[in-house]
Amino acid sequence: MNILLLGAGGREHALAWKIAASPLADRLFCAPGNAGIAKECELVALDVADHAAVIAFCKANRVDLVVVGPEAPLCAGIVDDLTAAGIKAFGPSKAAARLEGSKGFTKDLCKANNIPTAAYERFLAAAPAKAYVHARGAPIVIKADGLAAGKGVVVATSVAEAEAAIDMMFAGGLGEAGAEVVVEEFLAGEEASFFALCDGETAIPLASAQDHKRVSDGDEGPNTGGMGAYSPAPVMTSELSQRAMDEIVLPTVRAMKAMGAPYKGVLYAGLMLTADGPKLIEYNVRFGDPECQVLMLRLMSDLVPALLACCDGMLRNFDLRWYPDAALTVVMAAKGYPGSYAKGSAIEGLDAAAAVEGVEIFHAGTKAEGGRILANGGRVLNVCALGKTVGEAQARAYEAIARIKWAEGFCRRDIGFRAVARERKL
Ligand code: AMP
Repeated sequence: MNILLLGAGGREHALAWKIAASPLADRLFCAPGNAGIAKECELVALDVADHAAVIAFCKANRVDLVVVGPEAPLCAGIVDDLTAAGIKAFGPSKAAARLEGSKGFTKDLCKANNIPTAAYERFLAAAPAKAYVHARGAPIVIKADGLAAGKGVVVATSVAEAEAAIDMMFAGGLGEAGAEVVVEEFLAGEEASFFALCDGETAIPLASAQDHKRVSDGDEGPNTGGMGAYSPAPVMTSELSQRAMDEIVLPTVRAMKAMGAPYKGVLYAGLMLTADGPKLIEYNVRFGDPECQVLMLRLMSDLVPALLACCDGMLRNFDLRWYPDAALTVVMAAKGYPGSYAKGSAIEGLDAAAAVEGVEIFHAGTKAEGGRILANGGRVLNVCALGKTVGEAQARAYEAIARIKWAEGFCRRDIGFRAVARERKL
């Protein structure tokens, strides 16, 4: 098969690495890709937002399957356009991608189908939203309805903070994404990410993971796209995973089918593990980044047949095998991230780092120039490792990081600390 992967981050490097290992993959292309992805496949300079150009490339290169990494092209309907052109594509349709593209849509779907989630109301203007906040009190959570690149959620610890968030969103601080606002109950508990593959009719679980969103050690400082992750999440017992499937994922797949928008692709459920059981915080309609990196390291089975089974509605009898090992990834970012940062600094020592046992390095934002690897983004490298425990994977990842020479970069030193502490208690 000829396969085209869309995206440019660490998630796509991990997907490219796994797809390239499939005996089914003949030619593998990635658009636009990065310097690490270039080692797995052929990079193509395509504008992913130009669906006609993507379709023309697929036809010219006899592409049999397109795998879409990020959410923006999914919400823009690239899978609909590819399918209409007779090209198989992994990922949800535009209508099904509303599970990520509209928080209000997902909340209404949960309410109508008894899927456990925080109590909420949807608002189109500031005054009634503030009245609701006053009635409920703080802490309370304010969310922009649309895609806001991770900036659309404010967990307000006071009514004043909630009001300021409401004003910011309705004043256009997040653009179109904030034209509608969801105000919801604050949920207490530990968070975990749960992933499932869906084929429109049914779903099979992938694995659990936990990530670290804050930039600094101890989960302090501003939010980022994710500074590290590990899988499995020790807090996500098999009983909780079963509940997440039965109470959240499967009812969602059934509801999407019933409304004529069957969900195909990977469904990423952000869960809060509350005293009353798992509750849905939000859905994403694609793999997490950096969670995908740890899932791909742990997946023993060929990924390509699983992606095809999602597209073809053939998941019912599908089975995936996993390595029993834990996987962990540490994000190396350019100094200044998630604020402003410089591009173009040189990174050395990657081969020595990759030689550490169990280590795999995925590139998140790099480019190759004159035989050197240069930083080309905020999040730049994902240093990943497998180990018998999260603790062993963590030690290997940091051993590899010690071999990387990049003065302009930084990473957190404590990725996985909760899981490692839990392992020590056992
Ligand atoms: P999101 O951008 O939707 O992933 O939300 C960002 C973060 O906000 C989540 O990872 C949670 O830590 C937090 N959050 C979102 N909704 C709630 C909620 N209802 N209760 C508590 N925390 C929440």
